[in-house]
Amino acid sequence: MIRPDLLEILRCPLNPSKARLVLEDESLRCEQCSLRFHIKDGFPILVVEEAELPPGCESIRDLPCQKKNNER
Ligand SMILES: [Zn+2]
Repeated sequence: MIRPDLLEILRCPLNPSKARLVLEDESLRCEQCSLRFHIKDGFPILVVEEAELPPGCESIRDLPCQKKNNER
């Protein structure tokens, strides 16, 4: 449903420089923040607001990768 060469260039919008996405259960999961992006009609919806948060996270700011950025 998603071509491997497309998957290869897709990145998480939260961390486009390094976070890769892996295909998992018909959705795309970010290796970095574990956000889960839905796939609609063969196209991944790479919108943070539309993504599913990993268990234990109530908002984008709860994501481990975002916390790290906010810490000083
Ligand atoms: Zn991510």
